[in-house]
Amino acid sequence: MRIYLDNAATTKMSKTAVNALLPYMDDIYGNPSSLHLAGQAAAEALADARKRMANCLDCAADEITFTSGGSEADNQALYSAARIGARKGKRHIISTAFEHHAVLHTLDKLEKEGFEITLLDVHENGIVHAKQVSDAIREDTCLVTVMYANNEIGTVQPIQKIGEICRARDVIFHTDAVQAVGHLHVNVREQNIDMLSLSAHKFHGPKGIGILYCRKGIPLTTLIEGGAQERGRRGGTENIPAIMGMAAALEEACALIDENAGKLTVLRDRLIAGLSEIPHSILNGDAGRRLPGNVNFCFEGIEGESLLLLLDDKGICASSGSACTSGSLDPSHVLLAIGRIHDIAHGSLRLTLSEENTAEEIEYTIQAVKEVVTYLRGISPVWRDLVEGKKEFIIK
Ligand SMILES: *Cc1c(COP(=O)(O)O)cnc(C)c1O
Repeated sequence: MRIYLDNAATTKMSKTAVNALLPYMDDIYGNPSSLHLAGQAAAEALADARKRMANCLDCAADEITFTSGGSEADNQALYSAARIGARKGKRHIISTAFEHHAVLHTLDKLEKEGFEITLLDVHENGIVHAKQVSDAIREDTCLVTVMYANNEIGTVQPIQKIGEICRARDVIFHTDAVQAVGHLHVNVREQNIDMLSLSAHKFHGPKGIGILYCRKGIPLTTLIEGGAQERGRRGGTENIPAIMGMAAALEEACALIDENAGKLTVLRDRLIAGLSEIPHSILNGDAGRRLPGNVNFCFEGIEGESLLLLLDDKGICASSGSACTSGSLDPSHVLLAIGRIHDIAHGSLRLTLSEENTAEEIEYTIQAVKEVVTYLRGISPVWRDLVEGKKEFIIK
């Protein structure tokens, strides 16, 4: 038995995406910048993919820049907005404490370059309120960047409202929508989004390809100098196979979005109900305002890494949080941001589902987690102290 429950880290490519990609690794191999027949076949495919993806997001084709993924899109968005701000003497940026590191580390760099960064607190339920953004905006604010849905705890932010506030105050609004696109309805026009990052491998597309949407009239700063590809916004021959796979994956995900969300929500809520039966456990993030496939728990008296290894022995691929922080002993900055203390944050488990998971797999997983938690607590001195009353339980 092998059960894959780490879809926030990456997803399996769909058959549709693989089939759309393959011809461009085979017969259709031209460089879209070439003027001959082979090049023009690739250029036409590229233009078509751009248009189809623009339709999914409700923007114009020339508002889309292809990047190497979510991280590059985040970097380019932040540097671009910072450059625009600096030209007007505006050097204040607003973000949140639980962003992805692609955003947080770029903000660190901008801070060293003289920008002032305000990181908004996240409420215990994993939500940032639009009013916090509105209260934090100043005369010299050049950018607000708030993620659409968190990659660890899955909570969904009030993006449309935040966008409305930024538009009214003439501040650029960027959202890292890597976890949302293909899973939730995203519409950059209706939601007042100026810049948006997405990544194909989070919605059953290929790895190493993504998009930065940027509203017309907002100039992008080039991170990769080279040829005139992407209208001069990103040098380098376009990754046509990956782009074709991504376009097919996005169209498929958007066509099935309600059906998949309905199915995933049922599985998710069963998993949450099952794991809630474990004593001294707590769900991280709002129970309702979260991605349809995200489950994230803390178990008191448990060390997350051991939990993962024992679940792996039982055939379950899970995560303790972000793939980027696993391997380090630092507790998740997301769990700290929602107020979990270090000891509790260490005992976290993230299970993220896809449409391919079944009800049987969920039942097996609930049983497996219960067994492993019971086993680990049985051999834990910390747990013994808690049970004997020498220490107080933090999770009631
Ligand atoms: C995965 C992820 C990224 C990074 O995307 P890559 O394509 O892997 O670079 C950025 N932000 C969020 C929220 C993510 O989940």
